[in-house]
Amino acid sequence: MHSFEYKNGSLFCEDVDLQQIAEEYGTPSYVYSAATLRDNYTRLDEALTELDHGIEYAVKANSNLSVLKLLADLGSGFDIVSGGELKRVIAAGGDPAKCTFAGVGKTRDEIVYAIEQGIYCFNAESEAEVAFIDKVAGELGKKAPVAIRVNPNVDAKTHKYISTGKSENKFGVDFEFIEAAYERASKLENITLRGLQMHIGSQLTDVKPFIEAAEKVAPLAARLKELYGIEFFSIGGGVGIVYSPALASGSTEWWESHTEEARPLTPERYAVGVVPFLKDLGLKILVEPGRYIAGNAGVMLTECLYEKKGTAKTFKVVDAGMNDLIRPALYEGHHEIVPVKEPTKQTPHITMDVVGPICETGDFFCQNRDLPDFAEGEFIALLSSGAYGFVMASNYNTRGLPAEILVDGDSARVIRPRQSVDAILESEIANL
Ligand SMILES: *Cc1c(COP(=O)(O)O)cnc(C)c1O
Repeated sequence: MHSFEYKNGSLFCEDVDLQQIAEEYGTPSYVYSAATLRDNYTRLDEALTELDHGIEYAVKANSNLSVLKLLADLGSGFDIVSGGELKRVIAAGGDPAKCTFAGVGKTRDEIVYAIEQGIYCFNAESEAEVAFIDKVAGELGKKAPVAIRVNPNVDAKTHKYISTGKSENKFGVDFEFIEAAYERASKLENITLRGLQMHIGSQLTDVKPFIEAAEKVAPLAARLKELYGIEFFSIGGGVGIVYSPALASGSTEWWESHTEEARPLTPERYAVGVVPFLKDLGLKILVEPGRYIAGNAGVMLTECLYEKKGTAKTFKVVDAGMNDLIRPALYEGHHEIVPVKEPTKQTPHITMDVVGPICETGDFFCQNRDLPDFAEGEFIALLSSGAYGFVMASNYNTRGLPAEILVDGDSARVIRPRQSVDAILESEIANL
């Protein structure tokens, strides 16, 4: 469910016409729906009411301060993967005491900063890291809270670049070694073993891998509670969203037109699947959703600059490139593309490649896709761009980062202005 739909012949985000947004703020721009962000958060929160639980929003999915503030106001905690992200959470008014710190390569500076800010827990990904956190905490005269990430070796059946829960992935400690790792960690003086963590992958649209992992790891969590008094078990993030059909899946009717079994994963079904394995553990259960919260809450708007008809193909060249939205180039991510002006029955469909201006063959948003035709000067929206969109944008080809806009009801607010080229050059000119 989301708040993007055609009204009166134009694509709207909540009560705001995206044609007006594109004209007023220019393109490429990201537009987020506050209502969708809130709704996604609340639905998951309610689905998990049976459990003593906490939501740790995965900041890396969309780290704009206004997005973080909106979630902090709902009571969200945050899963961070760098010191920079912790700084963001604090700047947005989030509570460090509700932060978990993930990632395989935390540096000394990041560990010091996180200890000083009093985060809830480090989720360590190797024994070497546990030993290092112990050493740094000792130097500060503090005790650091630590959980270890277990790699449960289950197949998330997602794209190979976003699968994390198999033994061949770099993440976590192998299931076979985890108890010994806790045993050794329990002997360290400057850490407290506070929890157990896992995260099997991203964009899962089937509940089975989640169930498989919960069933396999819950008994381990129970033993670690017995032995070391851990207080939480984080089951990670990974709940997927509907990339196709993205626009249609915004409506209640679309969901109701599918039987329960034929529906993509919902927070309710996720909860029904995993709760039975977790509810009697007596542990606080944490979830770390990123994409699920922000993915369908955002679109990227871009303008069609040129049409080019070659012998083989029709190309639509747009003013956004892979530097603005890299998911298609990076992991074959699919984004539904719709014209902002609603196509009519008369609008012809043509097979096209929508491509950006970047000097890379991988700079495309779709290839050989049948889409309603649109003309030069018209705007299109790349749907489901709210997660892993702007956060991965770069200055490649010396292009400024796109603007970010937050819609709430009938109001729209720039939450990050478009970056100027002067801003890109500034620090280099100062060092010329
Ligand atoms: C990226 C990440 C998440 C969020 O994944 P989504 O698929 O966006 O829900 C959660 N936990 C950890 C440890 C991560 O690295």
